[in-house]
Amino acid sequence: MRKTLLVIDRRYMDHFAGQVHPERPARIGTMIEMSTELKRSDLKICAPREATLEELALCHSDGYLLTIERSATRERTDFDPDTHACARTWSTSRLAAGGVLTAVEAVLDGEANNAFAMVRPPGHHALPGRAMGFCFLNNVAIAANWLIKVRGKHRILILDWDVHHGNGTQEIFYDSPNVLYMSIHQYPFYPGTGWLDEIGTGSGVGFTVNAPMPASFGDAEYLQVFDRLFLPVARQFKPEFVLISAGFDAHFRDPLGGMRLTEKGFLAMTRRLQLVADECCNGKIVAALEGGYDLRALANSSRTVIEELGREPSAEPGAVDEGERALPIVERARYFLRDHWQFDQDD
Ligand code: ZN
Repeated sequence: MRKTLLVIDRRYMDHFAGQVHPERPARIGTMIEMSTELKRSDLKICAPREATLEELALCHSDGYLLTIERSATRERTDFDPDTHACARTWSTSRLAAGGVLTAVEAVLDGEANNAFAMVRPPGHHALPGRAMGFCFLNNVAIAANWLIKVRGKHRILILDWDVHHGNGTQEIFYDSPNVLYMSIHQYPFYPGTGWLDEIGTGSGVGFTVNAPMPASFGDAEYLQVFDRLFLPVARQFKPEFVLISAGFDAHFRDPLGGMRLTEKGFLAMTRRLQLVADECCNGKIVAALEGGYDLRALANSSRTVIEELGREPSAEPGAVDEGERALPIVERARYFLRDHWQFDQDD
C-alpha cells in the first residue's frame, strides 16, 4: 500500500460565484463527505496553507494579482460572463494554490507517496493576467513552476483530463521545455483552444500535446489516446514529478460536458500515470481538482482515483481493443509531433 495525502478544507466552500452557478461550494461539501467514508488506513488528511504572493507571481502578473486582491473589498466582482468573485474569493483562491503546494511539498519531502488536493476554485483556465472559465489562479501551473524555480526540477508532466482544454496552463508553459503539458478534452468546446497543431513554440515546441475529442467519446477512446500517444511521449520525457489536472466533467453524468467517461475510465487513467511515475520518479503524483459539476460523479470518481493511488500498479494494464474511433486523432497528433518524439508503429 502507498501513503496518500488528501488536502481538503471547509474554507474551500467560502468562494461563492452566484446562485445556480455550477462551480458551487457543495462540490467541496460532497468531497468532505466522501473523504470521511474512505476506508484507507494509510490515508493522511491535511489542511492547506495559503500560497504567498511570491508563489502566485511565479505564474501571474503583479497587476492582475492586485486586481483579484481588490475584489476582496467588494461583495461581487465580475471577471468574465461566468467568472464572478465574492469578497472571500481572493483568500479561497490563495488557499487553493497553496493546497496544491502543500500536497506537492509533502510528496517531494517523502511524507506521502502521492496526494490529491481537493481545492476550489479550479485553475486551469486562469491566464497570467486574466481570470476566466471559473478560474482565478492557475493552481497546477503555480505548483509546476514552484517545482522548477524553487525546488530546481527540470521536467514536470502535467496531465489534464478535465473535459475542457486547459488554455491557461498551455499558455503559461507554451515556450517551456521543462513542462510537458498533455490535455485530452472535448472539441469543439469551451474555451476553443487545444487543437492538434498547438504543440508549443520556441524551445517549447513538442512539449504541448493535445488530444481534441468529439463529444460522446468514453473510456475506450480515452485509453487509446493514453496508450498510443500520451504514455509513449511521457516515457521519453521522463518526468521528475507528475501533476494531474483532475477535472471530473468528462464523466457521463456531468451536466456541462458531453463525454462518456465512467469511474472505470478514471481508474484506468490513474493506473497508467502511476506506472509512468513509478518508472520515472518513484511514483510522485499529485492530483488537483479542476472541474466536475455532478456531485455524485464527482464523489464516486474522486474516490476511485484515491483508492487507486493507494494500490501498487503491479503489472502493465492490458491493451484496449475497443475505441478505434480515437485512432485518427492519435495518428494526426503523432504526425504533428513526429520531429519531437518517437512512436512505435505497433502501438
Ligand atoms: Zn472543466
